Amino acid sequence: MIPNNTILTDDFGRKHNYLRISLIEKCNLRCTYCMPAEGIVLSPKADIMTADEIYAIAQTFVNNGVDKIRLTGGEPLLRKDFSEIIAQLASLETEIAITTNGILIDKHLEVLKQFNIKKINLSLDTLVASKFQTITLRNQFEKVIDNLHLLLNNDFIIKVNVVLIKGFNNNEIVDFIKLTQFLPLSIRFIEFMPFAGNEWDKSKMVSQAEILDQVQNHFSATAIEKLEDDSNFTARKFKIKNYMGSFGIISSITNPFCDGCNRIRLTANGKIKNCLFSNSETDLLTAFRNGESIENLIATSIKNKKKMRAGMNTLDDVNNPVLNQDNRSMIAIGG
Ligand code: SAM
Ligand code: SF4
Repeated sequence: MIPNNTILTDDFGRKHNYLRISLIEKCNLRCTYCMPAEGIVLSPKADIMTADEIYAIAQTFVNNGVDKIRLTGGEPLLRKDFSEIIAQLASLETEIAITTNGILIDKHLEVLKQFNIKKINLSLDTLVASKFQTITLRNQFEKVIDNLHLLLNNDFIIKVNVVLIKGFNNNEIVDFIKLTQFLPLSIRFIEFMPFAGNEWDKSKMVSQAEILDQVQNHFSATAIEKLEDDSNFTARKFKIKNYMGSFGIISSITNPFCDGCNRIRLTANGKIKNCLFSNSETDLLTAFRNGESIENLIATSIKNKKKMRAGMNTLDDVNNPVLNQDNRSMIAIGG
């Protein structure tokens, strides 16, 4: 239940009860749409939140109405103190979920089970091993597939995140959906988004309309069932009738869902971002380390949140490199 305190409510009446915490800026993959080819300048280690700081800052959010936390990165499972972080956060009254590339799932399976972390978003952009190497610059396809099955065998609730890039994996949309015939997976096709250094171009993006066209052409319009979207949804949800799983489309570019946004992001170096598309950040960690209250900083950041995509109201705005490159790389934000 959201307390009376309103520091997490913005000027458009949106209540921010969902905190996404990036645990780390490093990653064991190099997805080209996420990590710039030249890499990123990492924050000094001393500037990265410790487990205790993550807990204390998260607790402030929970005290003010956050009831869902997602751990992301970089690759969150690379944190050496991952089990300590989970153990501390599990004492807060919130749901905890994780977004991961899946490579280290087997190492952390027991911790996830112990603390009842059931919801895992696993990123996998192709079902072809050689293409996995092309997009991630690493040879870990088998490992990710094995770990996906490990999660399925252990009854986790799994969403598979697929960033679609024209000419790379737009010919795999149907193959991904076919996985849902006998597996309880939710496949989420994500429109490719622009961030610093990821060479985004509108022509590389596969739009919601194109995705639905392909699905209809293959399965027929009557085979597709529209499912009810979650409140504060990001993915518009569908399924193929009689299939076990479902699929969704995250269309931040062509059909944004900002009206129901309830998300706030905390970067690994302790800064909050009120919108994924915003270049404006508020440093909580320095204030926290100085023993100052961080609630005013949170309130101001939330009040400054723009109605849509950090003020990029049109597709032309999103397409403008002056606007769309003036943000951190996704790897340093946490998707
Ligand atoms: N390493 C973890 C993973 O890959 O799942 C967590 C961090 S990753 C930054 C979080 C999500 O952001 C992933 O699902 C990834 O596919 C997505 N992502 C990264 N760059 C993106 C982009 N340019 N457009 C859309 N989604 C992106
Ligand atoms: Fe790493 Fe995830 Fe970014 Fe890929 S999408 S480089 S796995 S942080």
